[in-house]
Amino acid sequence: MPTVTVNRVTAHLSDGSRIDIPYWDVNSGKEGTFFLVIANQHGNEVNGCEAIRRFIEVAQRKLKKGRVVGLPFANRLALHQRRPHINMAPEQPYGDDRGHNMNRTWPGDPNGNDTQRLSHAIHEGIAKHADAVLDLHSWSRFTATASIIKADKPELYELARVAAIRFVRVVKGEKPEPQDKPSTITRKFLEAGKLAITIELATQYAIVEHEVQRGLRAALNIAKHLGLMEGEPELDEPVIFLDNVEEEQVKAPVDGLFVEAPVATWDRVEKGQKLGHIIRDDTLEVVEILSPRSGWLKEFGCRREHCDVALPAQHPYASKGDLLASVVQPRES
Ligand SMILES: [Zn+2]
Repeated sequence: MPTVTVNRVTAHLSDGSRIDIPYWDVNSGKEGTFFLVIANQHGNEVNGCEAIRRFIEVAQRKLKKGRVVGLPFANRLALHQRRPHINMAPEQPYGDDRGHNMNRTWPGDPNGNDTQRLSHAIHEGIAKHADAVLDLHSWSRFTATASIIKADKPELYELARVAAIRFVRVVKGEKPEPQDKPSTITRKFLEAGKLAITIELATQYAIVEHEVQRGLRAALNIAKHLGLMEGEPELDEPVIFLDNVEEEQVKAPVDGLFVEAPVATWDRVEKGQKLGHIIRDDTLEVVEILSPRSGWLKEFGCRREHCDVALPAQHPYASKGDLLASVVQPRES
């Protein structure tokens, strides 16, 4: 049987205090890949924390080779504040991070700000020793769950297919950067010739069962793909690479309250299928919103910019022209 321990790394903060970051460490006792799964770099993104707990529960029974580390609370300081980064005011956008977006701080800095000190402790204690990383995030519920990979790494396309998340965002054309420039943990892994994938589960500030299951399945599938566990990955076709799709957006034709039909991002919709309706607040007329094509629902629901930090931006009152949905279909190859 593999051994499971709870270990910790310690970050020394700028005020002289210290904070431990605990992780589950599952060791098979046999040689093999060291697979790291981390979550909660942004304090309001919590689906991945539970996905990791369940992943470790399986790993401790089924790991046959190598080592698995699950680190569910990468940014405990932001977790305690219940916001994306530390020291954020209400409704302050993600982008306004003042150097505290952990996702841009890797490999961290022992003499930097407190966020850089956290990533430094994790990098030195664990990340730099791992061979592959799955970095679990969550974005708003309005955008479908997606894997994110770099276009110039062919092996990542297979990893994304195996992760079995419906959509894959392919990041292209990034400028080469000096190796010492702080960046994402995945970029640092890829620069070192290792494997790395990010998954954005959907819904923040909340734990949603189907998102936890998607994150768990991705972690288990990747572990099987890496030869750490028995069995074939459990696939979910199609996996749609968003750099090769036809996309049609649905925008609000009038002002009014958008009432969603019982459909959800990730799912298949057919041309003419009802996506919801708008109740006009000037005439009380009801305007049906239909899918303009058959395909897969990539965006759904009425929202505006910064809906990841602000409640009014999530309000279902649509202004004419607001995005309500986007339906994609893989291009015929
Ligand atoms: Zn995030």
